[in-house]
Amino acid sequence: MNREDFPILNNGKIYFDNAATTLKPKCVIDAMDKYYLEYTSNIHRGDYDSAVITNKLYDNVRNIVSEFINCDANTVIYTSGATHSLNMVVFGFMRYFLKPGDEVLLNKAEHASNILPWIKLQEEIPFTIKYIPLNEDYSLTLDNIKKCVTLKTKVVSLAMISNVIGDLRDIKSIGEYCHQNNIIFNVDGAQGIPHMKFDFKDSNIDFLSFSGHKMCGPTGVGILVGKYELLEKMKPIMYGGGMNSFFEEDNSYELKSIPTRFEAGTPAIAEVIGLGEAIKYLMNIGMDNIHKQEINLKKYFLEKVKDINNIIVYNKNINSGIIAFNIDGVFAQDTSMYLNHYGIAVRAGNHCAKMLKDEMNIKNTVRISMYFYNSFEEIDKLIEVLKNSKDIFKVVL
Ligand code: PMP
Repeated sequence: MNREDFPILNNGKIYFDNAATTLKPKCVIDAMDKYYLEYTSNIHRGDYDSAVITNKLYDNVRNIVSEFINCDANTVIYTSGATHSLNMVVFGFMRYFLKPGDEVLLNKAEHASNILPWIKLQEEIPFTIKYIPLNEDYSLTLDNIKKCVTLKTKVVSLAMISNVIGDLRDIKSIGEYCHQNNIIFNVDGAQGIPHMKFDFKDSNIDFLSFSGHKMCGPTGVGILVGKYELLEKMKPIMYGGGMNSFFEEDNSYELKSIPTRFEAGTPAIAEVIGLGEAIKYLMNIGMDNIHKQEINLKKYFLEKVKDINNIIVYNKNINSGIIAFNIDGVFAQDTSMYLNHYGIAVRAGNHCAKMLKDEMNIKNTVRISMYFYNSFEEIDKLIEVLKNSKDIFKVVL
């Protein structure tokens, strides 16, 4: 779908590493070029023509995000990516919210960015991290969470879609449950938001983080959205220009209103504008169409791979375009190097979910992650190359 929009696809290579970062359509590159070529200027400082254009384009991206995920534009904070957003939640909000003995529920399939900040904060506040056990297929449902919740549980923090297992968590039900039980629900949307229609207001999420570069946008920009009343309690983790109304010799200072107070310094202006263009581009295609195409590609791959012996797929039943597999007895990195030889980019390793090996009893997997511009022909090629690996690895039959 829409392959002609991606100039890089003319290189004849096959790109199946979209969970790491996605390709960029020409309209996004053009929007950023235009900023650099025609109206470069800083934001919220100048009164000249180009500064006025930049202000307008930059600020309007909050409206685009608000339309995209149904949230209030003044609760949209620009960050450098999901990692930055998640760190803001932990060190700007949780640091002042959690008390000794409180419980935070995570799980071992989470990305480093949703585990390490919590571990670090624990050095300051003796709260407890509990890892919600996963199901046999490594998925996580509301029932798993219910079994772990106690009166001390203050936070549930999890990814909308795990970046290794690809299971889509039932965010709406989990949000409702957390809301009823006075539990803060923090969602890492890095792998979910780019792939399906999502409604922030309808989901009882308290904080939502995602990255621009995983949804056709540029690197270096991401979003944190939060409920307004919680953002009011959150403190900036960076102080400097652009976020204050005044500061005086007697150490008094005043911060600007939300969301500007969380955006100290010159932001990634071109990237914010590029992200706005990317979101408009995705909405134009339709998030439901994007999700449908990914699911069809996944089904097609699973159907084809059935005919190859000795390929172990770990997550057959998931509802996303992420597939984790290994060729039996072959080191995941060897498989990815072999595929690279044929111009096929996949990811091998632990995918930053370093605790998941305890649950799966395997250290590394090969991950194919699809986006709407991948094609059935590309999957045919992948299958053909995997089958031909019998001459090298001697295990594929
Ligand atoms: N969470 C998940 C589930 C991810 O897959 C990633 C990126 N691999 C991140 C967080 C971090 O995103 P970023 O590197 O863009 O900050």
